Amino acid sequence: MKRILLSLFVCVLLNGKVKAQVPANCQVGDDATYTKQIRENTTEPFFSTELVDHLPSSTCVPSPEKFLHHIIGAPNVLDHVEQINAYMRLLEKNTPRVKVFSIGKSEEGREMLAVMVSDAENVGKLDRFKEITARLADPRGLSDQDAQKLIAEAKPIYWADGSIHSPETGAPEMLMELAYRLAVEDTPFIQKIRNDAIVMITPVVEVDGRDREVDIYMHHVNHPQDPRYPLVWWGHYVAHDNNRDDLGLTLALSRNMLKTFLEWHPTVMHDLHESVPYLYIMTGTGPYNAWLDPIVISEWQGMAYHEIEEMTKRGVIGVWTHGFYDGWAPNYLLSIANGHNSIGRFYETFGNGGADTEVRKLNPPDTNREWYRPNPPLPEVKWSARDNINMQESAILFGMNNVASNKEQFLNNFYLKGKRAIAKAQTEGPAAWAFPADDPRPAEQARFLNLLEKQGIEISRLDADTQVLPNLQKQGSEWKSASSDTHPKSGSTDKDANKPVTLPKGSYVIRMDQPYSRLADMLLDTQYYNPRDPRSYDDTGWTLGALRNVKTVRVMDVSLLNKSMRKMADVEVAGSVAGSGGTLLINHNTDNTLATFRYKLADVPMEAAEGPFEAEGVKFNAGSFIIRNADRGRIEAAAKELGIQIRATASAPKVATHALQAPRVAIVHSWTNTQNDGWYRVAFDELKIPYTYIADTKLRVTDHLRDKFDVMILPPGGGSGGASLSSTIQGIPVRGSALPWKNSADMPNLVAPGLDETDDIRGGLGYTGLANIEQFVRDGGVLIAAQSSAGLPVSAGMTQLVNLNNPQGLNAPGSVLLSTVEDNKSPIAYGYSDKLYVYFHDGPVMNVGINQQNPEANARSSGRGSAGDPDVIQARAYQEPEKVKRTPREQELYIPDQVRQLASLLLPPPSEMPRVVLRFAAEKDLVLSGMLVGAKDVAEKPVVVDVPHGKGHVLLFANNPFWRDETMGSFFLVFNAMFNYDHLNAGVQPSAATNREAQSKSREE
Ligand SMILES: [Zn+2]
Repeated sequence: MKRILLSLFVCVLLNGKVKAQVPANCQVGDDATYTKQIRENTTEPFFSTELVDHLPSSTCVPSPEKFLHHIIGAPNVLDHVEQINAYMRLLEKNTPRVKVFSIGKSEEGREMLAVMVSDAENVGKLDRFKEITARLADPRGLSDQDAQKLIAEAKPIYWADGSIHSPETGAPEMLMELAYRLAVEDTPFIQKIRNDAIVMITPVVEVDGRDREVDIYMHHVNHPQDPRYPLVWWGHYVAHDNNRDDLGLTLALSRNMLKTFLEWHPTVMHDLHESVPYLYIMTGTGPYNAWLDPIVISEWQGMAYHEIEEMTKRGVIGVWTHGFYDGWAPNYLLSIANGHNSIGRFYETFGNGGADTEVRKLNPPDTNREWYRPNPPLPEVKWSARDNINMQESAILFGMNNVASNKEQFLNNFYLKGKRAIAKAQTEGPAAWAFPADDPRPAEQARFLNLLEKQGIEISRLDADTQVLPNLQKQGSEWKSASSDTHPKSGSTDKDANKPVTLPKGSYVIRMDQPYSRLADMLLDTQYYNPRDPRSYDDTGWTLGALRNVKTVRVMDVSLLNKSMRKMADVEVAGSVAGSGGTLLINHNTDNTLATFRYKLADVPMEAAEGPFEAEGVKFNAGSFIIRNADRGRIEAAAKELGIQIRATASAPKVATHALQAPRVAIVHSWTNTQNDGWYRVAFDELKIPYTYIADTKLRVTDHLRDKFDVMILPPGGGSGGASLSSTIQGIPVRGSALPWKNSADMPNLVAPGLDETDDIRGGLGYTGLANIEQFVRDGGVLIAAQSSAGLPVSAGMTQLVNLNNPQGLNAPGSVLLSTVEDNKSPIAYGYSDKLYVYFHDGPVMNVGINQQNPEANARSSGRGSAGDPDVIQARAYQEPEKVKRTPREQELYIPDQVRQLASLLLPPPSEMPRVVLRFAAEKDLVLSGMLVGAKDVAEKPVVVDVPHGKGHVLLFANNPFWRDETMGSFFLVFNAMFNYDHLNAGVQPSAATNREAQSKSREE
């Protein structure tokens, strides 16, 4: 292609200012050698377009090849973050069309960038464009006329970001070439983008994982005969879940991206992923998130179909939409844009986890023609890294050109979405969400409010007690007053819904007449997901108030908006020591700062009250902290720092106590999947709770574990199905030579502080490791096994009378369920009230007791009438069977007649009976948010079971108490187990007595 074009730019005077321009002596031509290599490495003509089948040369701006010594999409090579960032800065140095901003650092200290590319004049006025999008984002007080003036002046910002998922390696490479092409090429197509839009590029989102992945890939290239390393840590904490952090904002990348979004208000945010063939353009199957303005749904479709059509017109094969993800949960990176009235979207291209050129074989359904995929991928094709680059780069250029060409439409929609979000309070409601000032967990309330504020949501605070009617709408019977409890569903009746509620002075209010009202409503509301809808792609429920155990009240009453309130900056909780005397009392309210406090003062002896008590007229919950003969100054300093209220008294309360420990905790990981343990680590790190991160392979070779640890946590195993006992024992198969995970000259990025290293990642837990764990518990340690990991101690025989099952009809793709505290004397329940919402995902479902028959067995016999009719036995007078209504616990302790004789042999002594601490609510009350098919299999089953074993305990969780930093309400179940690890038998319940009776009875007979 001949493109010898002379760029003749001169400095021009505009508004009396000298504008930066591309120097007049810069010549643009065709980079023949680069172009030749593009074509050599493109395996089929139908994997390219005229937009990317060549590269222009520039006498001023170095091409990627000049800097990297390879073209973008060259086989067998990937670049580290430092190189990528350096190339972007080189562009900035050599052309006024590029400007680079640092947007923050990762956990391991690597830098993330925003690279702005546009016409030099636009780049010179970035501050003005930023000002305009900010004004359009918050149109309060802006007239339509003034808005139109701003829209005419504005440029839409199109933000493309690469590699949030580290094994998806093409985008960071592509984005270097894209930046160069946009800065240099002079076709009308590219000029349109440059003149009428601002392209913003974040080449690598997950910078830590990128460097590890490149290390591993280049090692594989250089040692093709060796087995390829697994990418043990995709980032510092979690694997693909780093794209599920928009609700918790726990990871540095989420915070950096959000902060950058709120600074620039990009019109479009476009994540570049790689998985399915060859190019999936996001729209989604639905159900779509119900809180979004419907405008954005149309925008997704319009943009996707534009790009599909342009690609398909050019003969490109396998570009499609719809059937991949749903569009429901707001937890993805792109949700940053959708939640803030912009457009969030993504591509999936056919990656190859590196830059190998390979024959790729596909099966149906990938190759099936569907209405949404009229031009499907082929059963077999040679696929190269360059093919991947061509597909991504071509399509996103069509997207950028579309936005530039229709800039006023896109910006107008952006403005309109903001305007309609502000009208939400009056138009569709609610008017506001309130956080009552009397929440028993002030620290968690503050932490939650500060999270919302980080999202750009405004928080106000009431100046006086304020009465509101929480519910005024017709459809209101669905919505119940939350005045008496955390959530609408729990405990209140329809009548309550129209009773006035008093929000005490100091309550926080999130008004729905603000630009990000929809986001706030989306996070705080409850979710209904119809099982008839397409399969959900991720969580179906996420109600954050419930998961964080913070009270929220949905207020329909618009009169609240006129009440006296003040806008808040950060919400802070004051900590103090009140009163006088040598004994300090801290109410246990399950605020997680109490856990920070315990470890901050690890050397200070503390005690836990074994029951509730009153001191000087103040009520304290069971588990409250008691510190005798304290160094008040030191404790006061910690209380102030953490927002903890402490009461000093002269006399110690009359209540049984035991030592409140600050134990040594191990968090266990495997070398095959670190996804779930990452959420445990990040929560512990945030709360400054020390722990040892230890590999299963290390447990295999470490005996006397009890000498080293008090509590050992097994986070849920890999994958949604969990790790089986056999895969846990085997780990990575021992074949060939050792696979060390250590930094080396050719792989310098594998390990960072806080991660783990080893001489050999093979071999798993092994039988020895299993025996070492069992010995640890028998020696008095506490083993905490959550969700799928519960299978390990159960299958390995460390728990009696507990069975796990995965009921066939159960479908719980991630929901918020209600549970009730069954055993409030158990230290694990300390500080909790009688109800707790927990996060539940699939199974396993736990069963306790000797009577573990199928619940169907309780159904009536086959006979006359219907399922609900009584069984009428023939030839005798009808007698109503005695109604035996047993509680779930009685059912668990029931000894079937058949085994009565053997009960003394089969049943553990009373002190070893499994203790059900938390139990799922009855079926009718069970689901707060999300989908749950097969609720009857979950209802009234145990959530948390404490099983004594030897001198120690095994704690089994059916929920995941540490899920994506959303489940702050459940954290303290684990912290309680830690602090009371050597006194978990405190308050042993009548279960033991019942059992004792049963045993002695069976012996008598
Ligand atoms: Zn991905």
